[in-house]
Amino acid sequence: MGYIKKAEILFFFIFLLSLNLYSLDLEKEIKTRKIPTYLIKNVQYISLKSFLKIINSDNWAKIEDRVFLFSDQTQIKFRIDDTNVIVGGKNIEIKNPPKEVEGEILIPVEDFSKIFSDFKIPEKKEEIRNIKVEEKKVSKKFVIVIDPGHGGHDAGAIGNFGLKEKDVNLDVSLRVEKYLKKQLENYPNIEIYLTRKEDVFISLEERVNIAKIFNADIFFSIHTNSSRLNRYEATGFETYYPYSKVEVNILPKSNNEEQISEKNNDPVLTEILNNLNETDVIEESRILAELVQEKLAERLIIPDRGAKRGNFYVLKYTPMISVLTEIGFICNPNIEFNLKDIEVRQAIAETLGKAIIEYLKKREIIK
Ligand SMILES: [Zn+2]
Repeated sequence: MGYIKKAEILFFFIFLLSLNLYSLDLEKEIKTRKIPTYLIKNVQYISLKSFLKIINSDNWAKIEDRVFLFSDQTQIKFRIDDTNVIVGGKNIEIKNPPKEVEGEILIPVEDFSKIFSDFKIPEKKEEIRNIKVEEKKVSKKFVIVIDPGHGGHDAGAIGNFGLKEKDVNLDVSLRVEKYLKKQLENYPNIEIYLTRKEDVFISLEERVNIAKIFNADIFFSIHTNSSRLNRYEATGFETYYPYSKVEVNILPKSNNEEQISEKNNDPVLTEILNNLNETDVIEESRILAELVQEKLAERLIIPDRGAKRGNFYVLKYTPMISVLTEIGFICNPNIEFNLKDIEVRQAIAETLGKAIIEYLKKREIIK
């Protein structure tokens, strides 16, 4: 009896969800909403701001001449004056490049209509919007950015049987996101973003910038490690928190090397964080790193290598609380075998999610 009832509820829920999604017809939306368009060399453009309103999204970031759009379904990356657009990791050649005029980003209507023709927009009801606005007034936003390490041509560590770190990191991160969104559904002031949702390359500088643009309170990087010395037997999990935090106007070139060598001095432009107390941010990062280790130790049978300080690029240059967790040694064939298992990945993801929730409770961000 209980089973039948559950099934009915589930079906109803899915049915409702699918009702609330509609396909995007960009040209029609522009007409009905009377959105201003611009003609550049006879090509019709609209502002990115208008476009975001149409797709009900405010998740985007601009880093130098690159623009990122994030939605529940995909991540889009394009450059100003460039006809290559990356949609969900795939390169698409468009006819007319996006433009920037007086600080306003303009996108070509015809090309973006095609890119987004299969796009499903979540329909926002007025009542939901009103509730959200009020909550934003009373409660401050708390933003968590999850960072799946590596991606695209950067596979990270590769196991003996070919399992790639980038794929494990992404899958676990997506599971953490899903778990947190479910657990925190009653807290609309807590927002969760990923630095990547697909198999795409994102430099370390871009990761730091994404965290800054989203005004993240927590930056949580997920990796799988590898040992050069003890390739077949290395085991355990560890979580790093920063040695130091440095705020710079111009990020130093990372060459995508995660660990910063001690010799590497910071550029002259360096300023120690002013708005945030450096010691506090590091201390909070340590507390979170220890919670991650504690929770993983409860769930996994492999050794607890501890929470430790690490000089990682993304830990050093992100101004907020930041940790980098290494969930297992992919170079060890036994661990590689385990990391292939989706149940293991799910268990790790839930554990990481629990550690974050525990931290939020500790700081009374949630009850
Ligand atoms: Zn890594």
